Amino acid sequence: MHRTTHWYRANMDAVFPARTREHVLDAVSAGVPLDTAMEEHDLPDEVAYGRARRDPTFRDRLYRALMDGRDPNLRHGRCVTYARDRCRCPECQATQPGCTAARRWLDAQHARAS
Ligand SMILES: [Zn+2]
Repeated sequence: MHRTTHWYRANMDAVFPARTREHVLDAVSAGVPLDTAMEEHDLPDEVAYGRARRDPTFRDRLYRALMDGRDPNLRHGRCVTYARDRCRCPECQATQPGCTAARRWLDAQHARAS
């Protein structure tokens, strides 16, 4: 399972190239769930999250797109919204144990705003 960063980067660009990333980000910010947007390209959503872990620029854009595209009629930042409504916005992701990436991103947004 252990892969070198170099191998991983080259491979990620091959399976999830810039054009595909733009397409997915556009769809997500328009309200398409990330897993559905990725399915269109025959990719699991883990590929997007994997990219986000290693690419801070993509991470920022992905979380922003998830915020833009989330359903405004839901109450976000609750486990039930994550589990029942399947919302994957950063606030709902941050309710899940182990999802520290979303929490850190939100903290950074708050720090920037204040
Ligand atoms: Zn949410």
